[in-house]
Amino acid sequence: MNFSILYRGPLSSCNYSCDYCPFAKTKNTRAELEDDKKKLRRFVNWTKENAQHHFGILFTPWGEALIRKYYQEAITELSHSENIRKVAIQTNLSCPTGWMKHCNPDKLALWTTFHPTQISRADFVKKCRQLFESGVRFSVGTVGFTDALPEIEKLREELPPEIYVWVNANKKTADYYSEENINRLLAVDPLFSWNLHAHQSLGESCRAGESVFSVDGDGNMTRCHFIKTRIGNIYDPSWEKALRRQACTNATCGCHIGYVHLDKLNLQPVYGDGLLERIPVDMGK
Ligand code: SF4
Ligand code: SF4
Repeated sequence: MNFSILYRGPLSSCNYSCDYCPFAKTKNTRAELEDDKKKLRRFVNWTKENAQHHFGILFTPWGEALIRKYYQEAITELSHSENIRKVAIQTNLSCPTGWMKHCNPDKLALWTTFHPTQISRADFVKKCRQLFESGVRFSVGTVGFTDALPEIEKLREELPPEIYVWVNANKKTADYYSEENINRLLAVDPLFSWNLHAHQSLGESCRAGESVFSVDGDGNMTRCHFIKTRIGNIYDPSWEKALRRQACTNATCGCHIGYVHLDKLNLQPVYGDGLLERIPVDMGK
């Protein structure tokens, strides 16, 4: 079978301090990092032991994981595994990038986010250009705060046109965007309207829980990051039995990593092989 897994271990710390984020400048203890490393190792081993299946993996850490060598090593290793079709990670791109040259470029992908309050646009764009020239596949995105609009537009202008720039809508404030601002953000991200509103999902058919699922550091499976009911554990020999087609039980789904699996939106053909790293088929290298 072909599965997509969203993995989130116990790591919860970040080297950046975005003011809207609970992980801003949080730290893990040495013991917590050791625990996270051990659990990540177990997960990587599990993917190898389950060689009868093919996996696409997106790491969605609480905080920044790529500054940790053990994540760099795990991703490098996974990118060379035969039964891994894609290994991707959400990152602020503050990590060194030299290790990426040891990865299989056909399988590595990055979901990078630009945080204008934490790094200058010039430095971020420079790093993206280096990554682009080295052949790494990645998307770039940011939160569409209206006070950052000029910065977002300049980011789009300064990146090579082949790099997809996504914008996450600020959905916390009702009627946050004027029509003019929506149009400006659509000019940056032609797919912005998909993210602008949470999608009605109650009772709707969703691949999360069937071919896509979330896993925590202890192997606990949930159908997605947004429905917390445990459905099984990957370290049980019969873990596949936890997976079946079922309707969504949440009222709405507003995050790209969730709603892209909602059947009614039919977004699979839009993103194709770039679904996990958020690169539409008509963009990216
Ligand atoms: S980079 Fe991401 S995880 Fe870190 S503080 Fe900013 S929003 Fe939070
Ligand atoms: S629609 Fe969203 S919340 Fe519902 S099951 Fe799918 S991913 Fe989860």
